[in-house]
Amino acid sequence: MTPQPSPQTGAAVKAADRAHVFHSWSAQDLIDPLAVAGAEGSYFWDFDGKRYLDFTSGLVFTNIGYQHPKVVAAIQEQAARMTTFAPAFAVEARSEAARLIAERTPGDLDKIFFTNGGADAVEHALRMARLHTGRPKVLSAYRSYHGGTQQAINLTGDPRRWASDSGTAGVVHFWGPFPYRSRFYAGTEEEECARALEHLETTLAFEGPATVAAIVLETIPGTAGIMVPPAGYLRGVREICDKYGIVFVLDEVMAGFGRTGEWFAADLFDVVPDLMTFAKGVNSGYVPLGGVAISAEIAATFGKRPYPGGLTYSGHPLACAAAVATINAMAEEGIVENAKRLGADMVGPALRELAGRHPSVGEVRGVGMFWALELVRDRATREPLVPYNATGDDNRAMAAFAAEAKAHGLWPFVNMNRTHVVPPLNVTEAELKEGFAALDAALSVADTFTV
Ligand code: PLP
Repeated sequence: MTPQPSPQTGAAVKAADRAHVFHSWSAQDLIDPLAVAGAEGSYFWDFDGKRYLDFTSGLVFTNIGYQHPKVVAAIQEQAARMTTFAPAFAVEARSEAARLIAERTPGDLDKIFFTNGGADAVEHALRMARLHTGRPKVLSAYRSYHGGTQQAINLTGDPRRWASDSGTAGVVHFWGPFPYRSRFYAGTEEEECARALEHLETTLAFEGPATVAAIVLETIPGTAGIMVPPAGYLRGVREICDKYGIVFVLDEVMAGFGRTGEWFAADLFDVVPDLMTFAKGVNSGYVPLGGVAISAEIAATFGKRPYPGGLTYSGHPLACAAAVATINAMAEEGIVENAKRLGADMVGPALRELAGRHPSVGEVRGVGMFWALELVRDRATREPLVPYNATGDDNRAMAAFAAEAKAHGLWPFVNMNRTHVVPPLNVTEAELKEGFAALDAALSVADTFTV
């Protein structure tokens, strides 16, 4: 459904936005946000009636697409019954959301602390780990994103950290595995895995393992590039954590809730962390919600001793009702299975076929509905299509790629020299085909920037 164009309303929406809305991560005078009139399923449209196929799922959160009728109805019903209630009470929607999540989390991660989103879930996971171990430091990967709040941004590896990093957050960064751009001069996945684990253990040895509360990793790093870790890496990290009494935190804010074709990416690697953060896909972002799934051992630390943390909206009934409806819809409609099947049978093969024809594609990697194309100037040297953290004219190749995709009705996810293919998990084959045709055209533009 695309409603009648209404350019005048669009102009008013845009004018009020430009006058009063202060946008994330942006130089306010240099942005030109699209005024969006509506959205349904895998599409959204502007006030001129132009439709876009959304290969970004928002910020990788609309895992069941826009306006899923069962979730919309559940939110309406909850709003009519009990819109809000304080966190100290037992509330039906909250209890049921926690039960459904705990049923799906790996191992004994059976207690759920609800937050308002991903960053505060990470903040609380760190607090729990530090209090549980009595240790001050945490380790995280350079190629990572963990959120915009103070601890979460310090944990983050990507350049968004720099402006907020005073070097005092107790975070030490290390290199995770990334065979395509190996920091370890590795020639094979096995070498990359072994050397990345050795590097982590050496880093720990020099930091003093007894000072380290937690190692925090995205199960599959998302915004940083969808680098699926080599088989054995995460289990190796689990062993290192066990050896030194360190809490293993997996951040599944982006990779969780079906994105990889499993309920949680940890299931792909047969690994159980001590704490797992989630947000986004838990209710497709229809109402803000995140949380930490907590192991029995860490939950027991706070059995008789109060946990010193909380939020006014922890387990907000409206957000939890949306989570219940989302999880049930995903189960009833086989949405996770759809991501797994289409990822393996269609997305992977189609992207590899595009890579075969476009010299700007250096690597295709991913799983489920979680894919990255690494764009390069030169396939032989792997020089990125634009420099690391490029802006302005330095970034014009990626800007031209994105503009061409949009001209063909595809809204692409672009980060540095990569485009990510991360549509809703219930995307159809026909929608994917439409998206790949637009991607084909946009990659032809990227090709013109190769050597
Ligand atoms: N962790 C990961 C892996 C993320 O991808 C994100 C957001 O993209 C966050 C944490 C932060 O989540 P939020 O933006 O909901 O605070």
